Amino acid sequence: MTERTFSIIKPDATRRNLTGKVNAVIEDAGLRIVAQKRIRMTRQQAEQFYDVHKERPFFGELVDFMISEPVVVQVLEGDNAVAKYREVMGATNPAQAADGTIRKLYAESVGENSVHGSDSQDNAKIEIAQFFTDAEIVG
Ligand code: ADP
Ligand code: MG
Repeated sequence: MTERTFSIIKPDATRRNLTGKVNAVIEDAGLRIVAQKRIRMTRQQAEQFYDVHKERPFFGELVDFMISEPVVVQVLEGDNAVAKYREVMGATNPAQAADGTIRKLYAESVGENSVHGSDSQDNAKIEIAQFFTDAEIVG
């Protein structure tokens, strides 16, 4: 089923000029980038986005990281886009990520792991709505 997921190319990747290389992996996997913009996340946006992790010991570090440099927020569309992008990203910890995945190829650590992808269709809808209007998504 065609669906949409939300992606972020995180600061460690934008800093190293890897936006195009990450996008190549996304597109080679058959996912279409139907919206994309480079932004500086505000602290409030990052705290809201990662609210589910606010009790975790790494929350402060994660928010500081996400606002440290620009990020690229994206909407990806394709067959089973949520699950497919999770597969393309690889495990949260790059040391455990499978060969060919974005995190195996490019991530630096469990915290600075190059990409975010929604973990469910419900969260994809919520996350997309946090950063994009319907008019900005051109499928
Ligand atoms: P995922 O991004 O794979 O869905 P989680 O939802 O578990 O992973 O965590 C959200 C983000 O928080 C991770 O992508 C990573 O940037 C950061 N993170 C997760 N676990 C740790 C950790 N143990 N130490 C530092 N940062 C972490
Ligand atoms: Mg997650």
